[in-house]
Amino acid sequence: MKQGTKFVYELDGNLYVNLTNRCSNACTFCVRNGKDDYFGHELWLEREPSAEEVIQLIGDPKRYRQIVFCGFGEPTYRLPQLVEIGKAVKAKGGYVRLNTNGQASLIHGQNVAPLLCGAVDFVNVSMNAQTPAAYQAVCNSVFGEDAFFAMIDFAKEVKKAGIEVCFSVVDVIGKDAVSACRTLAEQAGIPLRVREYIEP
Ligand code: SF4
Repeated sequence: MKQGTKFVYELDGNLYVNLTNRCSNACTFCVRNGKDDYFGHELWLEREPSAEEVIQLIGDPKRYRQIVFCGFGEPTYRLPQLVEIGKAVKAKGGYVRLNTNGQASLIHGQNVAPLLCGAVDFVNVSMNAQTPAAYQAVCNSVFGEDAFFAMIDFAKEVKKAGIEVCFSVVDVIGKDAVSACRTLAEQAGIPLRVREYIEP
């Protein structure tokens, strides 16, 4: 696997921030499976960047539609850096989105959703499946089936903290599963976005 220092990359007018390759999941559909790059961007890191480095690389965030924490890994592993970068971007008038597997509070052993206030405008939580067992079958979380409940709770806590949030699922899980996910999202009072599957 080729490793580098691609800490930010531009796609569709957004600037994506690649803070880490660590992830508590090993999803069967992950775009990084068996790949060195994502749309030509080599996202395997030889080291993790500092917040200051990323802030410098972003420059003026208003040049982009959104600054998105995403990358080849779960950004909330680097929560302090994520919050520092997010606050710096927002102070310069940028819009910040976080794409997450929703396991941040399990990773950090406490409810960390309120820490995102003032640092993140929008959180996209990957729901991925309709039951704990189905979730674990596709996501292989290190936290086992607890990850599913933690993911739903995290989204609710983000909403409670006053940050805009949505769930997402990939259409490849099938119509019935998507419909069950929609019901769960409605129960949580959070919108669901159905994404198209991207071939790994
Ligand atoms: S949570 Fe995201 S980065 Fe982690 S394995 Fe799943 S798709 Fe890949």
